[in-house]
Amino acid sequence: MERIQRPRGTYDVTPEEAPRWQALEARIRHVAARFGFGELRTPVIEARELFQRTVGETTDIVQKEMYVLTPPGSDRQLVLRPEGTAAAVRAYLENGLHNGPQPVKLFYIQPMFRHERPQAGRYRQHVQFGAEIFGAGEATADAEIIALAMTLFAELGLEGLEVHLNSIGCPACRPRYRQALLEYYRPRAAELCADCRARLETNPLRLLDCKVPADQPHKAGAPRTVDYLCQDCRAHFDELQSALDALGIAYRLDPGLVRGLDYYTRTVFEIKYGGLGAQDTVCGGGRYDGLIELLGGPPTPGVGFGMGLERLLLTLEAAGRPPGARRPLDAYVAVAGQVPRTRVLALVQALRHQGLAVDMDHVGRSLKAQLRAAGRLPVRYAVILGDDEWARGEAAVRELASGQQRRVPLGELAAVLRPAGADAAAETRGSAEVDRA
Ligand SMILES: [Zn+2]
Ligand SMILES: [Zn+2]
Repeated sequence: MERIQRPRGTYDVTPEEAPRWQALEARIRHVAARFGFGELRTPVIEARELFQRTVGETTDIVQKEMYVLTPPGSDRQLVLRPEGTAAAVRAYLENGLHNGPQPVKLFYIQPMFRHERPQAGRYRQHVQFGAEIFGAGEATADAEIIALAMTLFAELGLEGLEVHLNSIGCPACRPRYRQALLEYYRPRAAELCADCRARLETNPLRLLDCKVPADQPHKAGAPRTVDYLCQDCRAHFDELQSALDALGIAYRLDPGLVRGLDYYTRTVFEIKYGGLGAQDTVCGGGRYDGLIELLGGPPTPGVGFGMGLERLLLTLEAAGRPPGARRPLDAYVAVAGQVPRTRVLALVQALRHQGLAVDMDHVGRSLKAQLRAAGRLPVRYAVILGDDEWARGEAAVRELASGQQRRVPLGELAAVLRPAGADAAAETRGSAEVDRA
């Protein structure tokens, strides 16, 4: 039969790789809890309008990259969630969190779906760690969001990160900036790429997002948002910098950093990793004080970030800091002769009840083949049960690294196999069951 393959741009996490994910996610949950963030889990499917209204009709995400589903017998289209913030806002409003104490601090570790051209470290289903603070407009909230990301990186052992920071103003100061942009770009329109020409009159801020190489010189000379900030935006940006200074977080002011959508306000930031030469953005975020209103909520400020975990894992790997390894087995039980296999299974189970990681043969291999199998596993001890040992209520315990072997009464097996520093509380549970009788 022809084998069926996974969809392009997706990946499997094998048992070999899963511990890295588990360790990374555990670290994220640990840090987020210490910062007072609660976990949010939302459906993979959402209404199509949620992203049309927020991400915008004219964006690549909405036009080309969303997986659209038409459920049988329904004329309402659903999509696989392409990004996390809009879904978090929807959940905040739908669950009445906006009526409770503010601010509300949420984080999520969830897959996002985009039908992009697959490239290294970029997938059509990718996992994002996102954090959002709803209901706090103060610059200390922006500083805390950045500190959350930086604390996570520090605890993962990642060094050489740089925070790039900018302020893009608010609805009060943006019209003046927009006018300056129009005046700058209009005489240059003929030299711009097609996308930029199309967006010039409708949303000139988007031109600053253009990645087309030929347009970069124009971008470099464009008016800067920071020169057009109103008094309130200026004060907010200054306070954010003071807060980062107080936290000892280094940053670089980057006037070219923008987000072209209208609901973004004030702070935008990216965290780049330059530890291995070329800089790579590992986290991006900012303030979106207009977003919650756009989704039918009361005027509510918001700030947050998103972090792609596949890229973070690649970065950690390259930096020699993989976040976790698979737990090795404490023991592999090898059986010979007429020793009753059901009783051995009960022995294995009793050891597991005491917190040990133990496995045994289930396919009737010879003792030699079982020991060979054990040798290929990450396992510390082979526990050998032959007729002779079984009759005496003992086992031969072989440390695989050294080859040293000794006889251990079955009642003392758990204590011998237990790795130094392992959970001692588990020892009180069911140790009597280990006895053969
Ligand atoms: Zn302003
Ligand atoms: Zn362009």
